[in-house]
Amino acid sequence: MHKLHSALGVATTLKPAAPVTLIRPQAAARAARFFVEKFPGKSLYAVKANPSPDLLRTLWASGITHYDVASIAEVRLVAETLPEAKLCFMHPVKAEEAIAEAYHRYGVRTFSLDTMEELTKIMRATGNATDLELCVRLRVSSEHSELSLASKFGAELGEVKELLMATRQAADALGICFHVGSQAMTPHAYTQALERVRAAIVDAAVTVDIIDVGGGFPSIYPGMEPPALELYFDAIYRAAESLPVSYSSELWCEPGRALCAEYSSLIVRVERRRGDELYINDGAYGALFDAAHVGWRFPVDLLREEGSEAEMQAFSFYGPTCDDMDHMAGPFLLPADIGPGDYIEIGMLGAYGCAMRTGFNGFTAETLVEVTDEPMASMYDDSIVEPRRAKSATVVQIGQ
Ligand SMILES: *Cc1c(COP(=O)(O)O)cnc(C)c1O
Repeated sequence: MHKLHSALGVATTLKPAAPVTLIRPQAAARAARFFVEKFPGKSLYAVKANPSPDLLRTLWASGITHYDVASIAEVRLVAETLPEAKLCFMHPVKAEEAIAEAYHRYGVRTFSLDTMEELTKIMRATGNATDLELCVRLRVSSEHSELSLASKFGAELGEVKELLMATRQAADALGICFHVGSQAMTPHAYTQALERVRAAIVDAAVTVDIIDVGGGFPSIYPGMEPPALELYFDAIYRAAESLPVSYSSELWCEPGRALCAEYSSLIVRVERRRGDELYINDGAYGALFDAAHVGWRFPVDLLREEGSEAEMQAFSFYGPTCDDMDHMAGPFLLPADIGPGDYIEIGMLGAYGCAMRTGFNGFTAETLVEVTDEPMASMYDDSIVEPRRAKSATVVQIGQ
């Protein structure tokens, strides 16, 4: 194992010609401990946000025992990586073969659904099992979130009563779940959704054993600074406490982004500058999908040994592929004297960033380096402000 100095040291020592993925297990562990200690219920990690086995092991070691999986490949991956983990198959539209394999081979007992057809499918695939935990997914508003999840899944109010009653008959434990959309910017998103849950329970007059408030817990990005997570937890706790549910009911959540956004960042190199446009060696088909297609702004930092005295200037990025759409509008604020050969760290890419990389056009990032410095921002440590300049960190190279 190589020991280098800092994230800056990764750039200056390795001088990488291809992008390098940095991982920070300590940041994911801190996020996991926060949810385990402070969320007033059970936290299921939503694996799609970042399915890296190293990350799964880190979360497990920090107390995350339940995993929200959405495909049979995720079921297999988590079962093989963490044999003791409890898996919850929370995609409302599943292949029947996937349900059967999950139930019979991997012992999965928890499934979500939003139609009668899916309920019938689950019962058929499991041989009318009597030990199922079935969560009915309600459609709720995504108006308070940066990324909508409102249009694709979720039973409408008119269909919920019949579905809850039928699912109650079939299930050993009945749950109600929803997803307010990703990067929910106010706790109100959850309290509003829980009002829908209340109406559905009252209307169907069923006993409910699990309330699952889904994902959507925010991370922190330039221009998107959410309230503290404790305020979300308090609001959810108060709203859930007052629901007409069974005395022994459980409260669950399914954080993806919030558990792993701080886990990864990326070092890229500037290959060309054209005015205020920087041509960098990663982009829309790499870890920067959201920067390109959703206009998400990630924090950036120039990694240059001697630093820069130049004023900050707004830049946009072009990725390395030959595709015009491989463009990230930003704006990304960097010193005005930046140019070819300079390295940039792009932060907060642990969720829906590094997990979405493709090898399109032959551009990829094979080098993974574990660093011990702090992420560029944090929901879990208020003292993290430009940490890299303040602290010297250890770098452990774990793959090339
Ligand atoms: C994507 C997803 C999550 C995680 O969402 P985040 O916004 O990353 O917290 C949780 N539950 C379900 C059902 C999802 O589809």
